[in-house]
Amino acid sequence: MAGRIRDADVALVRERSLIAGVVSEHVQLRPAGRNELVGLCPFHEEKSPSFYVNVATGLFHCFGCQQGGDVYSFVREIDGLSFREAAERLARRAGVTLTFEGGGTTDRTVSSQRQRLLEAHRIAAEFYAEQLGGHPSARAGWDFLTARGFDLTAAQRFGVGYAPTGWDALTRHLLSRRFTGEELVLGGLSKQGSRGGLIDRFHHRLMWPIRDLAGEVVGFGGRRLAEDDTPGAGPKYLNTPETPLFKKASLLYGAELARRDIARRYQVVVVEGYTDVMACHLAGVTTAVATCGTAFGPEHVAVVRRLLMDSDERHGEVIFTFDGDTAGQKAALRAFEHEERFATQTFVAVEPAGLDPCELWMRGGDAAVRELIARRVPLVEFAIREVLGRYNLDTTEGRLAALDAAAPLINRIKDAGLRHGYAVNLDRWLGFLDERFVARRVAEHRAQQAGGGHSASVASAAGRREPAATDPVVIVEREALKLAV
Ligand SMILES: [Zn+2]
Repeated sequence: MAGRIRDADVALVRERSLIAGVVSEHVQLRPAGRNELVGLCPFHEEKSPSFYVNVATGLFHCFGCQQGGDVYSFVREIDGLSFREAAERLARRAGVTLTFEGGGTTDRTVSSQRQRLLEAHRIAAEFYAEQLGGHPSARAGWDFLTARGFDLTAAQRFGVGYAPTGWDALTRHLLSRRFTGEELVLGGLSKQGSRGGLIDRFHHRLMWPIRDLAGEVVGFGGRRLAEDDTPGAGPKYLNTPETPLFKKASLLYGAELARRDIARRYQVVVVEGYTDVMACHLAGVTTAVATCGTAFGPEHVAVVRRLLMDSDERHGEVIFTFDGDTAGQKAALRAFEHEERFATQTFVAVEPAGLDPCELWMRGGDAAVRELIARRVPLVEFAIREVLGRYNLDTTEGRLAALDAAAPLINRIKDAGLRHGYAVNLDRWLGFLDERFVARRVAEHRAQQAGGGHSASVASAAGRREPAATDPVVIVEREALKLAV
């Protein structure tokens, strides 16, 4: 076991690791006066930025949670690393070879587990990419890609690869590079076969490397290429399991490619699949990301807000694309249920024919995908219009019933100005041409909801009101299902 890292190396790595560069791999920063940058703190939830980085001193400090320190403390804290792991990570980034008291350098014997796993993933991604180019059965992978309009350049841009047929091609490759079997299992690249030996986790699949925000490969998503009924072919999509590197609750596929444009355009587009991310980026919607085999949840919200540098002064837009498959979106909206402000900046982009962005791109090209995103509507508007669609607005009775059904949705909005704005819109959509009447009616519902009482004048007209119909999640889900039919 090697001793501690030499002080001179620690200093050299610090000198070569500009804190602004390291921090901005995780947090969007903007200038805040001489020598200082500011952003949303990655260590606590906040709405206005109070996380400061001083480029002159090389220190960071958060006035909200009092976290602070130098570039080493930042990396340790953000990735949950030991000092040594943080030093190795920064050294690699800065191109410095660490030496240890008593001899030895960062090589196989002294490198930390995390660095070893990252290295194994880097080699695995290269291996898969080579297989896509050369393996005889990679043909099926190319068929999949070309059928969706992706060429060699696109495959290379996203690092797409191929996990070959057979049982242990990658495992043998990595063992020959002196990784241990335990490391391969821990990293989710290999697993125990039924006959005892190690086999690859992924077989005959098209492979997407999944990277963290710093651009390091931390796992893979694999699309099955075998026919549905092939024995042992496994699920259509198979991802890396939870490992020390792969934390699916906070990972977003494509985030390392999209992050600059997310910050620049104050917009993030959330799609369902890896091919949707590819299609969006190729179509010029370069703010697209996807979750990795899980629903969009609270930790994704936190990551997205940091990338948007979402603040009280400037709200970013989070746009969900909707197709026939609603499970993910349903959970996404649930995640926003308790975060009112985030909900008001959530938009929905629905493809009328039920196509996902990749299918849309295949059929309509770049313009169709960009048009889909441009046609986004606020979540609240989407939900209200869906409710109105269930009533006959040609009759006074129908319009009144629709008003009563939509009012609870408007009353979910906490901001009074926005609530008023939607009441005015509702009048326009209903065609009463009497804003004051509609606004008063909505307010009556609000008073009734707050008091828990039943105002006869309001309740009687509501006719077919059902409690679940006012839940945007339910409405959006039903709408999406309707589109899928
Ligand atoms: Zn903080």
